[in-house]
Amino acid sequence: MTAAPDIVIRHGLVVDGTGGEPYPADVAVTGDTITGIGAIAARGRSEIDATGCIVTPGFIDAHSHLDGNVTWESRLKPNSGHGVTTTIMGNCGVGFAPCRERDREFAVALMEGVEDIPACVLWAGLPWNWESYPQYRAFLATRRFDMNVGGLLPHSCLRVFVMGERAIKGEPAAREDIATMEALTCEALRAGASGVGSTRLASQRTRCGTPAPSIAAREDELTGIARAIVKAGRGVLQIAPEFNRFPRAEEELRMVVRVARATGCRVTYSLKQSNGHKDGWKRLLEITHEANREGLDVRPMVFGRPTGDILGWECSLHPFVHSPAYRALAELPLARRVAELKKAEVRRAILSQAQRAEAEPGRGAGDSYRRLFPIGEVPDYEPPLEDSVASLAERAGVEPTEIIYDAMMRDEGRGALLRAYGNYADGNLDPSLAMMRFSRSVLGLADAGAHCTIICDASAPTTMLSYWARDRMRGARLPLPDVVRRLTSDAADLFDLGDRGVVRVGMKADLNVIDHAHLRLCPPRMEYDLPREGKRLVQDAVGYRATLVGGVVARLNDGPTEALPGRLV
Ligand SMILES: [Zn+2]
Repeated sequence: MTAAPDIVIRHGLVVDGTGGEPYPADVAVTGDTITGIGAIAARGRSEIDATGCIVTPGFIDAHSHLDGNVTWESRLKPNSGHGVTTTIMGNCGVGFAPCRERDREFAVALMEGVEDIPACVLWAGLPWNWESYPQYRAFLATRRFDMNVGGLLPHSCLRVFVMGERAIKGEPAAREDIATMEALTCEALRAGASGVGSTRLASQRTRCGTPAPSIAAREDELTGIARAIVKAGRGVLQIAPEFNRFPRAEEELRMVVRVARATGCRVTYSLKQSNGHKDGWKRLLEITHEANREGLDVRPMVFGRPTGDILGWECSLHPFVHSPAYRALAELPLARRVAELKKAEVRRAILSQAQRAEAEPGRGAGDSYRRLFPIGEVPDYEPPLEDSVASLAERAGVEPTEIIYDAMMRDEGRGALLRAYGNYADGNLDPSLAMMRFSRSVLGLADAGAHCTIICDASAPTTMLSYWARDRMRGARLPLPDVVRRLTSDAADLFDLGDRGVVRVGMKADLNVIDHAHLRLCPPRMEYDLPREGKRLVQDAVGYRATLVGGVVARLNDGPTEALPGRLV
Protein backbone atom coordinates (compact mmCIF):
# COMPACT_ATOMS: atom_id res chain seq x y z
CA MET A 1 0.00 0.00 0.00
CA THR A 2 1.52 3.35 -0.95
CA ALA A 3 -0.64 6.07 0.59
CA ALA A 4 -1.57 5.90 4.29
CA PRO A 5 -5.07 4.53 4.89
CA ASP A 6 -7.62 7.02 6.15
CA ILE A 7 -8.54 4.87 9.13
CA VAL A 8 -6.99 1.77 10.68
CA ILE A 9 -9.09 -0.21 13.14
CA ARG A 10 -6.45 -1.98 15.19
CA HIS A 11 -6.25 -5.18 17.24
CA GLY A 12 -9.90 -6.16 16.87
CA LEU A 13 -11.43 -9.59 16.49
CA VAL A 14 -13.01 -9.67 13.03
CA VAL A 15 -16.41 -11.38 12.85
CA ASP A 16 -16.64 -10.96 9.12
CA GLY A 17 -20.32 -11.55 8.35
CA THR A 18 -19.87 -14.81 6.44
CA GLY A 19 -20.54 -16.95 9.50
CA GLY A 20 -16.88 -18.06 9.56
CA GLU A 21 -14.73 -18.21 12.68
CA PRO A 22 -13.63 -14.85 14.11
CA TYR A 23 -9.96 -13.94 13.64
CA PRO A 24 -7.71 -11.19 15.02
CA ALA A 25 -6.79 -8.55 12.44
CA ASP A 26 -6.45 -4.85 11.74
CA VAL A 27 -8.82 -3.37 9.19
CA ALA A 28 -7.73 -0.50 6.93
CA VAL A 29 -10.17 1.85 5.30
CA THR A 30 -9.47 4.29 2.50
CA GLY A 31 -12.25 6.49 1.18
CA ASP A 32 -15.47 4.52 1.49
CA THR A 33 -13.83 1.13 0.96
CA ILE A 34 -12.13 -1.57 3.03
CA THR A 35 -8.58 -1.64 1.65
CA GLY A 36 -6.69 -3.96 3.96
CA ILE A 37 -7.26 -6.74 6.51
CA GLY A 38 -4.47 -8.35 8.51
CA ALA A 39 -1.40 -6.88 10.18
CA ILE A 40 -1.50 -3.32 8.80
CA ALA A 41 1.94 -1.72 9.13
CA ALA A 42 1.04 1.72 7.78
CA ARG A 43 -0.34 4.20 10.26
CA GLY A 44 -3.78 5.44 9.38
CA ARG A 45 -4.53 9.14 9.23
CA SER A 46 -6.74 8.23 12.16
CA GLU A 47 -6.72 5.07 14.23
CA ILE A 48 -9.40 3.26 16.20
CA ASP A 49 -8.25 0.98 18.99
CA ALA A 50 -10.41 -2.15 18.88
CA THR A 51 -8.55 -4.06 21.57
CA GLY A 52 -11.04 -6.37 23.27
CA CYS A 53 -13.70 -5.56 20.67
CA ILE A 54 -15.24 -7.34 17.73
CA VAL A 55 -15.20 -5.75 14.28
CA THR A 56 -18.24 -6.57 12.18
CA PRO A 57 -19.87 -5.36 8.98
CA GLY A 58 -22.49 -2.67 9.58
CA PHE A 59 -25.93 -4.15 10.22
CA ILE A 60 -28.70 -4.09 7.66
CA ASP A 61 -32.21 -3.58 9.03
CA ALA A 62 -34.41 -5.44 6.58
CA HIS A 63 -37.76 -4.08 7.73
CA SER A 64 -38.34 -0.45 8.60
CA HIS A 65 -40.97 2.23 8.04
CA LEU A 66 -38.81 5.33 7.95
CA ASP A 67 -40.32 6.44 4.61
CA GLY A 68 -41.53 9.71 6.15
CA ASN A 69 -38.64 10.27 8.57
CA VAL A 70 -36.07 10.26 5.77
CA THR A 71 -37.76 13.30 4.22
CA TRP A 72 -37.43 15.48 7.33
CA GLU A 73 -34.62 14.19 9.54
CA SER A 74 -31.08 12.93 9.20
CA ARG A 75 -30.60 10.89 12.35
CA LEU A 76 -32.85 7.93 11.90
CA LYS A 77 -34.00 7.07 15.39
CA PRO A 78 -34.64 4.63 16.90
CA ASN A 79 -32.37 2.68 14.53
CA SER A 80 -29.32 4.83 15.24
CA GLY A 81 -27.11 3.49 17.98
CA HIS A 82 -27.64 -0.21 17.32
CA GLY A 83 -24.99 -0.72 14.67
CA VAL A 84 -27.38 -0.31 11.75
CA THR A 85 -25.66 1.17 8.70
CA THR A 86 -28.32 0.39 6.11
CA THR A 87 -32.08 0.43 6.66
CA ILE A 88 -34.67 -0.83 4.19
CA MET A 89 -38.00 1.02 4.31
CA GLY A 90 -41.19 0.69 2.25
CA ASN A 91 -42.15 -2.58 3.91
CA CYS A 92 -45.72 -3.85 4.16
CA GLY A 93 -46.69 -1.83 1.11
CA VAL A 94 -47.10 1.51 2.85
CA GLY A 95 -45.18 4.68 2.09
CA PHE A 96 -45.52 7.99 0.27
CA ALA A 97 -44.51 7.35 -3.32
CA PRO A 98 -45.69 7.13 -5.95
CA CYS A 99 -48.48 9.46 -4.86
CA ARG A 100 -50.54 12.03 -6.72
CA GLU A 101 -51.59 15.18 -4.93
CA ARG A 102 -55.20 14.00 -4.68
CA ASP A 103 -54.09 10.77 -2.94
CA ARG A 104 -51.84 12.31 -0.29
CA GLU A 105 -54.59 12.31 2.29
CA PHE A 106 -55.16 8.61 1.80
CA ALA A 107 -51.41 7.78 1.94
CA VAL A 108 -51.12 9.65 5.25
CA ALA A 109 -54.28 8.03 6.65
CA LEU A 110 -52.98 4.61 5.68
CA MET A 111 -49.57 5.16 7.27
CA GLU A 112 -51.31 6.48 10.38
CA GLY A 113 -53.66 3.52 10.55
CA VAL A 114 -51.27 0.73 9.59
CA GLU A 115 -48.08 1.90 11.26
CA ASP A 116 -49.41 4.25 13.94
CA ILE A 117 -47.50 7.35 12.90
CA PRO A 118 -49.74 10.33 13.77
CA ALA A 119 -51.15 12.14 10.73
CA CYS A 120 -50.25 15.56 12.22
CA VAL A 121 -46.60 14.50 12.43
CA LEU A 122 -46.68 13.32 8.83
CA TRP A 123 -48.43 16.45 7.52
CA ALA A 124 -45.96 18.67 9.34
CA GLY A 125 -42.94 16.71 8.19
CA LEU A 126 -43.56 15.61 4.60
CA PRO A 127 -42.50 18.15 1.95
CA TRP A 128 -44.38 16.32 -0.82
CA ASN A 129 -42.04 17.49 -3.55
CA TRP A 130 -42.50 14.34 -5.61
CA GLU A 131 -45.18 12.42 -7.39
CA SER A 132 -43.49 9.41 -8.99
CA TYR A 133 -41.29 6.95 -7.15
CA PRO A 134 -38.15 8.02 -9.07
CA GLN A 135 -38.91 11.64 -8.06
CA TYR A 136 -39.17 10.59 -4.41
CA ARG A 137 -35.80 8.88 -4.71
CA ALA A 138 -34.27 11.86 -6.51
CA PHE A 139 -35.28 14.01 -3.54
CA LEU A 140 -33.86 11.51 -1.04
CA ALA A 141 -30.62 11.38 -3.02
CA THR A 142 -30.04 15.03 -2.05
CA ARG A 143 -30.37 14.23 1.65
CA ARG A 144 -27.80 13.06 4.21
CA PHE A 145 -28.31 10.55 7.00
CA ASP A 146 -26.52 8.76 9.83
CA MET A 147 -27.01 5.48 7.94
CA ASN A 148 -27.64 4.38 4.38
CA VAL A 149 -31.23 4.16 3.25
CA GLY A 150 -32.72 1.68 0.83
CA GLY A 151 -36.35 1.11 0.07
CA LEU A 152 -39.02 -1.07 -1.40
CA LEU A 153 -41.71 0.26 -3.71
CA PRO A 154 -44.89 0.23 -1.56
CA HIS A 155 -47.58 -1.85 -3.25
CA SER A 156 -50.53 0.08 -1.78
CA CYS A 157 -49.13 3.37 -3.13
CA LEU A 158 -48.49 1.78 -6.50
CA ARG A 159 -52.02 0.40 -6.62
CA VAL A 160 -53.67 3.72 -5.74
CA PHE A 161 -51.41 5.55 -8.21
CA VAL A 162 -52.54 3.23 -11.00
CA MET A 163 -56.17 2.51 -10.06
CA GLY A 164 -57.21 5.56 -8.02
CA GLU A 165 -60.52 5.15 -6.17
CA ARG A 166 -60.92 1.58 -7.42
CA ALA A 167 -57.82 0.59 -5.45
CA ILE A 168 -59.13 2.22 -2.28
CA LYS A 169 -62.48 0.46 -2.73
CA GLY A 170 -60.62 -2.83 -2.93
CA GLU A 171 -61.54 -3.69 -6.51
CA PRO A 172 -59.47 -6.25 -8.40
CA ALA A 173 -56.95 -4.93 -10.92
CA ALA A 174 -57.84 -5.20 -14.60
CA ARG A 175 -55.31 -6.53 -17.10
CA GLU A 176 -54.34 -2.96 -18.14
CA ASP A 177 -53.87 -1.97 -14.48
CA ILE A 178 -51.50 -4.87 -13.96
CA ALA A 179 -49.54 -3.98 -17.09
CA THR A 180 -49.14 -0.40 -15.80
CA MET A 181 -48.08 -1.66 -12.36
CA GLU A 182 -45.49 -3.88 -14.02
CA ALA A 183 -44.08 -0.97 -15.99
CA LEU A 184 -43.94 1.26 -12.89
CA THR A 185 -42.33 -1.53 -10.85
CA CYS A 186 -39.61 -1.87 -13.50
CA GLU A 187 -39.14 1.91 -13.49
CA ALA A 188 -38.85 1.97 -9.66
CA LEU A 189 -36.33 -0.87 -9.57
CA ARG A 190 -34.27 0.78 -12.29
CA ALA A 191 -34.35 3.95 -10.18
CA GLY A 192 -32.86 1.91 -7.31
CA ALA A 193 -35.69 0.30 -5.34
CA SER A 194 -34.68 -2.98 -3.71
CA GLY A 195 -38.00 -4.64 -4.49
CA VAL A 196 -41.68 -4.24 -3.68
CA GLY A 197 -43.37 -4.38 -0.24
CA SER A 198 -46.94 -5.60 0.28
CA THR A 199 -49.35 -6.69 3.00
CA ARG A 200 -52.33 -9.07 3.33
CA LEU A 201 -52.98 -8.34 7.01
CA ALA A 202 -56.65 -7.49 7.51
CA SER A 203 -55.75 -5.43 10.58
CA GLN A 204 -53.78 -3.05 8.39
CA ARG A 205 -56.26 -0.31 7.60
CA THR A 206 -56.75 3.43 7.97
CA ARG A 207 -58.17 4.88 11.21
CA CYS A 208 -61.56 4.98 9.47
CA GLY A 209 -61.35 1.32 8.62
CA THR A 210 -60.44 1.27 4.93
CA PRO A 211 -58.22 -1.77 4.39
CA ALA A 212 -54.76 -1.34 2.89
CA PRO A 213 -55.36 -1.50 -0.90
CA SER A 214 -52.74 -4.21 -1.42
CA ILE A 215 -54.93 -6.64 0.53
CA ALA A 216 -57.34 -6.68 -2.42
CA ALA A 217 -54.65 -7.71 -4.88
CA ARG A 218 -55.29 -11.06 -6.52
CA GLU A 219 -52.73 -13.60 -7.52
CA ASP A 220 -52.50 -12.26 -11.09
CA GLU A 221 -51.58 -8.80 -9.79
CA LEU A 222 -48.88 -10.12 -7.46
CA THR A 223 -47.60 -12.33 -10.26
CA GLY A 224 -47.37 -9.30 -12.55
CA ILE A 225 -45.40 -7.35 -9.98
CA ALA A 226 -43.11 -10.33 -9.31
CA ARG A 227 -42.57 -10.73 -13.07
CA ALA A 228 -41.51 -7.07 -13.26
CA ILE A 229 -39.03 -7.56 -10.38
CA VAL A 230 -37.48 -10.50 -12.24
CA LYS A 231 -37.38 -8.49 -15.46
CA ALA A 232 -35.53 -5.69 -13.67
CA GLY A 233 -32.90 -8.28 -12.73
CA ARG A 234 -32.81 -7.79 -8.96
CA GLY A 235 -34.90 -7.24 -5.85
CA VAL A 236 -37.37 -9.03 -3.65
CA LEU A 237 -41.13 -9.17 -3.15
CA GLN A 238 -41.89 -8.64 0.57
CA ILE A 239 -45.29 -9.70 1.89
CA ALA A 240 -46.88 -9.63 5.32
CA PRO A 241 -49.39 -12.50 5.14
CA GLU A 242 -52.34 -12.93 7.50
CA PHE A 243 -50.21 -14.85 10.01
CA ASN A 244 -52.72 -14.59 12.83
CA ARG A 245 -55.47 -16.52 11.06
CA PHE A 246 -55.43 -20.13 9.96
CA PRO A 247 -55.95 -21.75 7.50
CA ARG A 248 -55.93 -18.33 5.76
CA ALA A 249 -52.19 -17.91 6.44
CA GLU A 250 -51.45 -21.27 4.78
CA GLU A 251 -53.59 -20.42 1.75
CA GLU A 252 -51.84 -17.10 1.35
CA LEU A 253 -48.40 -18.62 1.68
CA ARG A 254 -49.33 -21.21 -0.94
CA MET A 255 -50.33 -18.34 -3.21
CA VAL A 256 -47.01 -16.62 -2.53
CA VAL A 257 -45.24 -19.87 -3.42
CA ARG A 258 -47.19 -20.09 -6.69
CA VAL A 259 -46.14 -16.52 -7.50
CA ALA A 260 -42.50 -17.48 -6.86
CA ARG A 261 -42.91 -20.59 -9.01
CA ALA A 262 -44.57 -18.76 -11.90
CA THR A 263 -41.98 -15.98 -12.02
CA GLY A 264 -38.77 -17.13 -10.32
CA CYS A 265 -39.03 -14.06 -8.07
CA ARG A 266 -37.39 -14.04 -4.65
CA VAL A 267 -40.06 -13.64 -1.96
CA THR A 268 -39.85 -12.91 1.75
CA TYR A 269 -42.84 -13.12 4.08
CA SER A 270 -43.30 -12.10 7.72
CA LEU A 271 -43.53 -15.00 10.15
CA LYS A 272 -44.17 -15.10 13.87
CA GLN A 273 -45.94 -17.27 16.38
CA SER A 274 -49.50 -16.17 17.02
CA ASN A 275 -51.22 -16.85 20.35
CA GLY A 276 -54.39 -18.14 18.73
CA HIS A 277 -52.60 -20.72 16.56
CA LYS A 278 -49.43 -21.36 18.41
CA ASP A 279 -48.17 -24.14 16.14
CA GLY A 280 -49.27 -22.51 12.88
CA TRP A 281 -45.75 -21.24 12.17
CA LYS A 282 -44.54 -24.84 11.91
CA ARG A 283 -47.00 -25.49 9.10
CA LEU A 284 -45.83 -22.35 7.30
CA LEU A 285 -42.21 -23.45 7.61
CA GLU A 286 -43.13 -26.86 6.17
CA ILE A 287 -44.67 -25.20 3.14
CA THR A 288 -41.59 -22.99 2.82
CA HIS A 289 -39.28 -25.99 3.13
CA GLU A 290 -41.09 -27.77 0.31
CA ALA A 291 -40.85 -24.65 -1.84
CA ASN A 292 -37.14 -24.30 -1.09
CA ARG A 293 -36.55 -27.95 -1.99
CA GLU A 294 -38.23 -27.26 -5.29
CA GLY A 295 -35.63 -24.52 -5.82
CA LEU A 296 -37.89 -21.54 -5.11
CA ASP A 297 -36.36 -18.60 -3.27
CA VAL A 298 -38.90 -18.11 -0.47
CA ARG A 299 -37.52 -16.74 2.81
CA PRO A 300 -39.43 -16.29 6.07
CA MET A 301 -38.66 -13.01 7.83
CA VAL A 302 -38.49 -13.68 11.55
CA PHE A 303 -37.75 -11.89 14.81
CA GLY A 304 -35.65 -12.78 17.84
CA ARG A 305 -37.89 -11.18 20.45
CA PRO A 306 -41.56 -11.25 21.34
CA THR A 307 -43.56 -8.81 19.25
CA GLY A 308 -45.90 -6.62 21.25
CA ASP A 309 -46.38 -3.26 22.91
CA ILE A 310 -44.67 -1.09 25.43
CA LEU A 311 -46.97 0.35 28.10
CA GLY A 312 -46.19 3.46 30.13
CA TRP A 313 -47.64 6.82 31.18
CA GLU A 314 -46.07 8.44 28.10
CA CYS A 315 -47.21 5.71 25.68
CA SER A 316 -50.51 5.61 23.82
CA LEU A 317 -51.53 2.41 25.54
CA HIS A 318 -52.07 1.51 29.17
CA PRO A 319 -55.04 0.23 31.16
CA PHE A 320 -55.86 3.69 32.53
CA VAL A 321 -56.18 5.73 29.33
CA HIS A 322 -59.99 5.72 29.56
CA SER A 323 -60.30 6.32 33.28
CA PRO A 324 -61.92 9.76 33.84
CA ALA A 325 -59.63 10.46 36.81
CA TYR A 326 -56.62 9.83 34.58
CA ARG A 327 -58.04 11.68 31.58
CA ALA A 328 -58.28 14.80 33.71
CA LEU A 329 -54.49 14.63 34.07
CA ALA A 330 -53.53 13.14 30.71
CA GLU A 331 -52.57 16.41 29.05
CA LEU A 332 -50.27 17.59 31.85
CA PRO A 333 -46.53 17.51 31.22
CA LEU A 334 -45.04 14.32 32.62
CA ALA A 335 -43.47 15.80 35.77
CA ARG A 336 -46.73 17.47 36.85
CA ARG A 337 -48.77 14.44 35.89
CA VAL A 338 -46.50 12.20 37.95
CA ALA A 339 -46.74 14.54 40.93
CA GLU A 340 -50.53 14.05 40.79
CA LEU A 341 -50.31 10.31 40.12
CA LYS A 342 -48.20 9.92 43.26
CA LYS A 343 -51.08 11.13 45.44
CA ALA A 344 -52.79 8.25 47.21
CA GLU A 345 -56.31 9.53 46.47
CA VAL A 346 -55.54 9.93 42.74
CA ARG A 347 -54.07 6.43 42.60
CA ARG A 348 -57.12 5.03 44.38
CA ALA A 349 -59.58 6.78 42.04
CA ILE A 350 -57.79 5.72 38.85
CA LEU A 351 -57.39 2.13 39.99
CA SER A 352 -60.99 1.73 41.07
CA GLN A 353 -62.28 3.20 37.77
CA ALA A 354 -60.01 0.90 35.78
CA GLN A 355 -61.05 -2.13 37.81
CA ARG A 356 -64.71 -1.31 37.43
CA ALA A 357 -64.27 -0.94 33.67
CA GLU A 358 -62.52 -4.29 33.46
CA ALA A 359 -65.36 -5.96 35.31
CA GLU A 360 -67.77 -4.95 32.52
CA PRO A 361 -68.59 -7.76 30.11
CA GLY A 362 -66.20 -7.86 27.15
CA ARG A 363 -63.89 -5.25 28.64
CA GLY A 364 -61.62 -7.50 30.68
CA ALA A 365 -57.94 -8.00 29.99
CA GLY A 366 -58.48 -11.74 29.47
CA ASP A 367 -55.23 -13.58 29.89
CA SER A 368 -53.18 -10.68 28.52
CA TYR A 369 -51.75 -9.94 32.00
CA ARG A 370 -50.10 -13.37 31.81
CA ARG A 371 -47.90 -12.01 29.05
CA LEU A 372 -47.40 -8.52 30.45
CA PHE A 373 -44.09 -7.87 32.20
CA PRO A 374 -42.54 -4.87 33.96
CA ILE A 375 -39.35 -3.83 32.15
CA GLY A 376 -36.43 -3.44 34.54
CA GLU A 377 -33.23 -1.40 34.34
CA VAL A 378 -31.87 -4.14 32.08
CA PRO A 379 -34.73 -5.07 29.75
CA ASP A 380 -35.43 -8.80 29.57
CA TYR A 381 -37.09 -9.86 26.32
CA GLU A 382 -37.58 -13.44 27.48
CA PRO A 383 -39.03 -12.91 30.94
CA PRO A 384 -40.27 -15.97 32.85
CA LEU A 385 -44.05 -16.24 33.24
CA GLU A 386 -43.56 -16.03 37.03
CA ASP A 387 -42.59 -12.39 36.48
CA SER A 388 -45.79 -11.53 34.62
CA VAL A 389 -48.18 -8.95 36.01
CA ALA A 390 -50.71 -11.75 36.61
CA SER A 391 -48.25 -13.81 38.68
CA LEU A 392 -46.89 -10.82 40.58
CA ALA A 393 -50.44 -9.78 41.47
CA GLU A 394 -51.36 -13.29 42.60
CA ARG A 395 -48.33 -13.54 44.83
CA ALA A 396 -48.83 -10.08 46.31
CA GLY A 397 -52.58 -10.61 46.69
CA VAL A 398 -53.41 -7.41 44.79
CA GLU A 399 -55.14 -6.49 41.53
CA PRO A 400 -53.00 -6.68 38.36
CA THR A 401 -53.79 -3.02 37.66
CA GLU A 402 -52.02 -2.07 40.92
CA ILE A 403 -48.87 -3.83 39.75
CA ILE A 404 -49.11 -2.02 36.41
CA TYR A 405 -49.70 1.38 38.00
CA ASP A 406 -46.72 1.01 40.30
CA ALA A 407 -44.46 -0.35 37.56
CA MET A 408 -45.29 2.71 35.43
CA MET A 409 -44.50 5.01 38.39
CA ARG A 410 -40.95 3.73 38.58
CA ASP A 411 -38.17 6.17 37.68
CA GLU A 412 -40.40 9.23 38.13
CA GLY A 413 -43.14 7.92 35.86
CA ARG A 414 -40.86 6.54 33.18
CA GLY A 415 -41.33 2.88 34.09
CA ALA A 416 -42.53 0.66 31.27
CA LEU A 417 -44.03 -2.77 30.68
CA LEU A 418 -43.71 -5.18 27.78
CA ARG A 419 -46.84 -6.88 26.49
CA ALA A 420 -45.79 -9.91 24.46
CA TYR A 421 -48.22 -10.74 21.65
CA GLY A 422 -46.29 -12.69 19.07
CA ASN A 423 -43.58 -15.34 19.54
CA TYR A 424 -44.51 -15.80 23.19
CA ALA A 425 -47.51 -18.12 23.42
CA ASP A 426 -45.77 -20.40 25.91
CA GLY A 427 -43.71 -17.78 27.69
CA ASN A 428 -40.41 -18.52 25.99
CA LEU A 429 -38.61 -17.76 22.74
CA ASP A 430 -37.98 -21.35 21.68
CA PRO A 431 -40.37 -20.97 18.70
CA SER A 432 -38.50 -17.82 17.71
CA LEU A 433 -35.21 -19.75 17.94
CA ALA A 434 -36.58 -22.54 15.76
CA MET A 435 -37.73 -19.96 13.20
CA MET A 436 -34.33 -18.25 13.23
CA ARG A 437 -32.61 -21.60 12.76
CA PHE A 438 -34.71 -22.42 9.69
CA SER A 439 -32.22 -22.53 6.83
CA ARG A 440 -33.65 -19.72 4.68
CA SER A 441 -34.93 -17.38 7.35
CA VAL A 442 -33.87 -13.75 7.51
CA LEU A 443 -34.08 -11.36 10.45
CA GLY A 444 -36.49 -8.46 10.25
CA LEU A 445 -39.82 -7.12 11.52
CA ALA A 446 -38.33 -4.45 13.78
CA ASP A 447 -40.64 -1.84 12.21
CA ALA A 448 -38.35 1.14 12.96
CA GLY A 449 -40.18 4.39 12.43
CA ALA A 450 -43.62 2.84 12.88
CA HIS A 451 -45.78 2.43 15.99
CA CYS A 452 -43.67 5.21 17.52
CA THR A 453 -45.36 5.31 20.90
CA ILE A 454 -46.01 1.63 21.45
CA ILE A 455 -43.04 -0.36 20.23
CA CYS A 456 -39.30 0.03 20.08
CA ASP A 457 -37.95 -3.02 18.31
CA ALA A 458 -35.33 -1.22 16.25
CA SER A 459 -32.98 -2.14 19.09
CA ALA A 460 -33.24 -5.82 18.16
CA PRO A 461 -29.67 -6.09 16.76
CA THR A 462 -28.39 -5.36 20.26
CA THR A 463 -30.62 -8.12 21.67
CA MET A 464 -29.32 -10.51 19.01
CA LEU A 465 -25.72 -9.84 20.02
CA SER A 466 -26.05 -9.52 23.78
CA TYR A 467 -28.83 -12.01 24.44
CA TRP A 468 -28.77 -14.66 21.72
CA ALA A 469 -25.00 -14.73 21.30
CA ARG A 470 -24.04 -14.26 24.95
CA ASP A 471 -26.55 -14.14 27.81
CA ARG A 472 -29.38 -16.56 27.15
CA MET A 473 -29.79 -19.09 29.97
CA ARG A 474 -33.32 -20.36 29.27
CA GLY A 475 -32.24 -22.54 26.35
CA ALA A 476 -29.79 -22.69 23.47
CA ARG A 477 -27.92 -19.63 22.24
CA LEU A 478 -26.81 -18.79 18.73
CA PRO A 479 -23.09 -18.66 17.88
CA LEU A 480 -21.77 -15.10 17.50
CA PRO A 481 -20.58 -15.55 13.88
CA ASP A 482 -24.03 -16.87 13.03
CA VAL A 483 -25.79 -13.88 14.62
CA VAL A 484 -23.50 -11.43 12.82
CA ARG A 485 -24.10 -13.22 9.50
CA ARG A 486 -27.86 -12.85 9.99
CA LEU A 487 -27.52 -9.13 10.73
CA THR A 488 -25.26 -8.52 7.74
CA SER A 489 -24.63 -10.73 4.69
CA ASP A 490 -27.97 -12.58 4.91
CA ALA A 491 -29.83 -9.28 4.68
CA ALA A 492 -27.47 -7.96 1.99
CA ASP A 493 -28.18 -11.08 -0.03
CA LEU A 494 -31.94 -10.68 0.38
CA PHE A 495 -31.81 -7.24 -1.24
CA ASP A 496 -28.96 -7.90 -3.70
CA LEU A 497 -26.72 -5.40 -1.91
CA GLY A 498 -23.55 -7.14 -3.08
CA ASP A 499 -21.23 -4.31 -2.03
CA ARG A 500 -21.80 -4.66 1.72
CA GLY A 501 -22.46 -7.12 4.55
CA VAL A 502 -19.00 -8.74 4.71
CA VAL A 503 -15.64 -7.51 6.02
CA ARG A 504 -13.57 -8.07 2.90
CA VAL A 505 -11.15 -5.96 0.86
CA GLY A 506 -13.05 -4.01 -1.77
CA MET A 507 -16.33 -3.97 0.17
CA LYS A 508 -18.00 -0.79 1.41
CA ALA A 509 -16.50 0.35 4.71
CA ASP A 510 -19.71 0.04 6.73
CA LEU A 511 -18.27 -1.32 9.97
CA ASN A 512 -18.96 -1.70 13.67
CA VAL A 513 -16.46 -1.85 16.50
CA ILE A 514 -18.31 -3.40 19.44
CA ASP A 515 -17.28 -4.17 23.02
CA HIS A 516 -19.26 -7.38 22.87
CA ALA A 517 -18.42 -8.50 26.40
CA HIS A 518 -20.02 -5.36 27.85
CA LEU A 519 -22.70 -4.64 25.26
CA ARG A 520 -26.05 -3.91 26.87
CA LEU A 521 -29.44 -2.46 26.13
CA CYS A 522 -31.04 0.35 28.14
CA PRO A 523 -34.81 0.55 28.83
CA PRO A 524 -36.94 2.25 26.16
CA ARG A 525 -37.64 5.94 26.79
CA MET A 526 -39.76 8.59 25.15
CA GLU A 527 -38.34 11.47 23.12
CA TYR A 528 -40.36 14.39 21.82
CA ASP A 529 -38.44 15.21 18.68
CA LEU A 530 -40.74 14.35 15.80
CA PRO A 531 -42.34 17.24 13.87
CA ARG A 532 -44.93 19.13 15.99
CA GLU A 533 -43.15 17.74 19.06
CA GLY A 534 -44.47 14.33 18.18
CA LYS A 535 -43.12 11.64 20.45
CA ARG A 536 -41.42 8.34 19.82
CA LEU A 537 -39.86 5.58 21.85
CA VAL A 538 -36.11 5.31 21.56
CA GLN A 539 -33.68 2.97 23.23
CA ASP A 540 -30.00 3.45 23.94
CA ALA A 541 -27.29 0.84 23.99
CA VAL A 542 -23.90 0.79 25.64
CA GLY A 543 -20.95 -0.90 23.94
CA TYR A 544 -20.90 0.38 20.37
CA ARG A 545 -17.39 1.87 20.26
CA ALA A 546 -17.62 3.04 16.66
CA THR A 547 -19.91 2.74 13.67
CA LEU A 548 -18.49 3.60 10.26
CA VAL A 549 -20.77 4.37 7.35
CA GLY A 550 -18.99 4.52 4.00
CA GLY A 551 -15.62 4.90 5.73
CA VAL A 552 -16.75 7.81 7.92
CA VAL A 553 -17.25 7.51 11.67
CA ALA A 554 -20.96 8.20 12.16
CA ARG A 555 -21.07 7.20 15.83
CA LEU A 556 -18.38 6.98 18.47
CA ASN A 557 -18.70 5.59 22.01
CA ASP A 558 -22.48 5.28 21.80
CA GLY A 559 -23.05 8.83 20.64
CA PRO A 560 -23.42 10.52 17.25
CA THR A 561 -20.55 12.39 15.62
CA GLU A 562 -21.11 15.49 13.49
CA ALA A 563 -20.88 13.40 10.33
CA LEU A 564 -23.86 12.33 8.23
CA PRO A 565 -22.23 9.93 5.78
CA GLY A 566 -25.37 7.92 5.01
CA ARG A 567 -26.81 8.09 1.49
CA LEU A 568 -29.68 6.71 -0.46
CA VAL A 569 -28.69 3.21 -1.57
ZN1 LIG B 1 -43.97 -3.57 8.71
